[in-house]
Amino acid sequence: MMGHTHWVIGAASWLGVLAFTPVYHNGATVFGGTAIAAVSALCADIDTKNSMASKALGPITGALSYLIRTLFGGHRKITHSILGIILVAAGVYALTTGFHWPVWIGVAALTGWASHIGSDMLTREGCPLLWPISKKKYGLHLVTTGKRAEKYLIRPSALIACIVFSVMLVRGL
Ligand SMILES: [Zn+2]
Repeated sequence: MMGHTHWVIGAASWLGVLAFTPVYHNGATVFGGTAIAAVSALCADIDTKNSMASKALGPITGALSYLIRTLFGGHRKITHSILGIILVAAGVYALTTGFHWPVWIGVAALTGWASHIGSDMLTREGCPLLWPISKKKYGLHLVTTGKRAEKYLIRPSALIACIVFSVMLVRGL
C-alpha cells in the first residue's frame, strides 16, 4: 500500500490498542504513541526506492534504502516478514531498555510495523512472512496498491477508525 495509507493505519492500530486493551493511556501514550506507530508503519517500506521512508531524510534514508534493497534482494523481503518483526522487536527492546524509555514506546513502534505487514497482506502482492525460508507471499489479495479500493475505502476507513478510537479515549481519559 501507499505511504499515506500506511501511516493512517499505523495510527489507527495504536489508537485501537489503547482503546480496546487495558494499556494505560495518557497524553503521552495517545499523542506520542500515535506518532511513533504512524512513523513506524512507514518504515517497513524503506526497502523501496520511492517510498516516504526512503525519501524522508534525503540522501541518508536514500542510502539506507539502497543498502537494504541490495542486501536483501529488493522490495517486500525482510522488512515484510516475521523475521523482520522479530528484528524490529529486538531493536526496540534494546533501545527502550538501553535508554530507559517507557515500554509503550517500543510497543507503539511494533504495532505500527505489524500494521504495515497486515495491511500489505490485503494487497495482491502479499507479504513473504517466512522469508528467507520461503519466498511464498501470504495475503488476502483483495486490493491493488494505489488503486481505488485503497484510496476510497481502506484509507478513509482507517481515518474513521482513528476518529472513533480517539473519541473513545477522550471519553475515558
Ligand atoms: Zn510495504
